[in-house]
Amino acid sequence: MRFGAWLRRETDGLCNLLLPPACAFCLERLSPPDPDNFCPSCHDKILPISGPSCRRCALPFQATDGDDHYCQTCLTEKRPLFSGVTPVGHHDTLLREAIHRLKYRNDISLARPLGHLLTSRLRDENSNFDLILPVPLHRSRLHERGYNQSVLLARQLGRRLQLPFELNRLQRILPGPPQQGLSARERSRNVRNHFKTASPLNGEAVLLVDDVMTTGATVRECARTLMKNGAGSIHVAILARAALQ
Ligand SMILES: [Zn+2]
Ligand SMILES: [Zn+2]
Repeated sequence: MRFGAWLRRETDGLCNLLLPPACAFCLERLSPPDPDNFCPSCHDKILPISGPSCRRCALPFQATDGDDHYCQTCLTEKRPLFSGVTPVGHHDTLLREAIHRLKYRNDISLARPLGHLLTSRLRDENSNFDLILPVPLHRSRLHERGYNQSVLLARQLGRRLQLPFELNRLQRILPGPPQQGLSARERSRNVRNHFKTASPLNGEAVLLVDDVMTTGATVRECARTLMKNGAGSIHVAILARAALQ
């Protein structure tokens, strides 16, 4: 066993002894202790996307019946930037609240069970990846928040899928205003040329990790930057896929 893995196992054991793990969302005691999972009641409230959605970007459609098909954005893309998107679920109810706490309320213990759920969804896809990259924050935003929730998730995926994870390969070089309340076109313009790679890629199949995808402007721009700099393919893993308003 590598020293890092040994140390993690030992410290996990010590933490469990001092503070028995509870559900990271509702704090219900879990017996036996299980920091990888929410309690059954919370777990049952996080459902995979149901109903028809876009075959490429997983955008849920308004209609609740019918088959999956491509959305307008994916249909008009000349060359697809990513092969697919794997979400844990819809951006609503418990998942929405959990992401909000992870992102804005320093509730970083949620990264572990959320990362576990995302790993299970990715395993169902049965795809192979070479490298995991988180969607980066600009250093000014990172300084403000203190951490990047996508990095916490990417680290969880790296550990569970046994894949290399690179913190600084993809970098955000311009801050850009907040995206909330903007149209898809404005969001897309907002992030244009905001990313760079620290060094070129060499045909790797990249798993790009983010928390929420709404218009997909940020993820598409990251994918565009990675493909331009030598990535072989991109697949996107997210916690929640928001429907467009
Ligand atoms: Zn719970
Ligand atoms: Zn689409």
